Amino acid sequence: RKRERSVVSILNERIPKDMLDVLRRAGEIAEELGVEAYVVGGFVRDLLLARPNLDMDIVIEGDGIAFANRLVQEYGGRVKEHDKFRTAVAILPDGRRIDVATARLEYYEYPAALPTVQLSSIKMDLFRRDFTINALAVRLNPKSFGKLVDFFDAQRDLKDRNIRVLHSLSFVEDPTRIIRAIRFEQRFGFRIGGQTERLIKNAVQMQFFQRLTGSRIFNEFKLLCEEKNASRCIVRLEEFKLLGQLHPGLELNAKKIGLLEKIDEVLDWYRLLFLPEPEPDPWMIYLLGLCSEMNDAEVADLTDRLNFSKRDQREFLSLRESVSTAFNRIGGWISRSGPLSELCLAIETLPAEGLLYLMARSTREEVRKGISLYLTRLRDEGIAITGQDLRRLGLTPGPAYGEILRIVRAARIDGQAEAREEQLALARRLVKKVLRKKSADMPPASRK
Ligand code: ATP
Repeated sequence: RKRERSVVSILNERIPKDMLDVLRRAGEIAEELGVEAYVVGGFVRDLLLARPNLDMDIVIEGDGIAFANRLVQEYGGRVKEHDKFRTAVAILPDGRRIDVATARLEYYEYPAALPTVQLSSIKMDLFRRDFTINALAVRLNPKSFGKLVDFFDAQRDLKDRNIRVLHSLSFVEDPTRIIRAIRFEQRFGFRIGGQTERLIKNAVQMQFFQRLTGSRIFNEFKLLCEEKNASRCIVRLEEFKLLGQLHPGLELNAKKIGLLEKIDEVLDWYRLLFLPEPEPDPWMIYLLGLCSEMNDAEVADLTDRLNFSKRDQREFLSLRESVSTAFNRIGGWISRSGPLSELCLAIETLPAEGLLYLMARSTREEVRKGISLYLTRLRDEGIAITGQDLRRLGLTPGPAYGEILRIVRAARIDGQAEAREEQLALARRLVKKVLRKKSADMPPASRK
């Protein structure tokens, strides 16, 4: 075995103390149980890249479920077991989740040509992974705590900023790894290595991608859209000819790329403002952009290919529809130089995804400003009067209530009725008008 480098000092430096305690304690528990424990995957990769990552994946050479239960006995919390795969999630009292997997020899089918017998189970577990940079492990048992296990020269790839698969059948085994390769490449500013690139091109040419279920493709697409620079990831998908394979209507042009880049910007802006509030679904916004030159029938084909449920498909198509209606109304608003309230009225039924898409899509400064004002302030700003007030003004409840409150809200947005008194005065005028109209509508005989 190669000499293993110690990363204890890096752990001490970069990992919060409470997490480090969990890792040390995990090693002690493993030792007591007579098994070997490792922290693996993205955690180790990000440790060496000095990027924060709080998701701990632990692999046990032995019974992972028993280990997870012991861990929770110590720390409190609970365990979710997945008996079928011998994996578990330990959820600690502070909400932190630790994934625990069991490394077993008989667990995995090897591509035929590879010698399986000599592999230790941790090596096998790591060999099943997507890229070298994700196939690192750190030992946790006390006598070897902090020793870096690197079977596949991942340290060199981290240094050379290289995305590399572990064996030449990797993309045949799992073509979603093509999308993952692009995602990691763009996230870290790495480069997919020459051999790996050839394997991708080969897999694409052989149409392995076509064998994937729509939900697996869609899942990876969603993850890709969570990246900060998703537009560059999407351009890479196109470079590998994957968009066209999925649907010809997805192919990029300069205009679409420009739109996707604007979506990056708008999402950045939104995240900066609203984090840690729940994010809108970035995939919806990018997919709206990608489908911007397709008709509804083509979009339906695409969402079928991606295994959308009928309901999700309907929802996406209807989002597209309302976005396009709003877009046209905004056009009218611009040409009339209408008041801000009119813009708000055009967009108020849209979900955040639709609003952000319109911001990215619009080339007019006043539209972007208007929508951003709506998102940051106007959306949540109510008015100071209610239906109660209308009733007190003598109006019986009915459809006129909503109309009047809408008008008052519009006035408020346009800065014409900031204070409650002004709003009340406006409501009074409107109520009078309604009452007058009501009595005018009545047949003469019943008039008093
Ligand atoms: P992220 O920061 O995006 O969460 P991650 O590396 O933690 O990155 P996950 O998608 O959470 O990524 O996967 C956890 C680990 O499981 C990865 O490090 C990788 O080794 C392995 N993995 C995930 N998907 C695959 C796949 N399709 N093929 C092989 N290994 C995979």
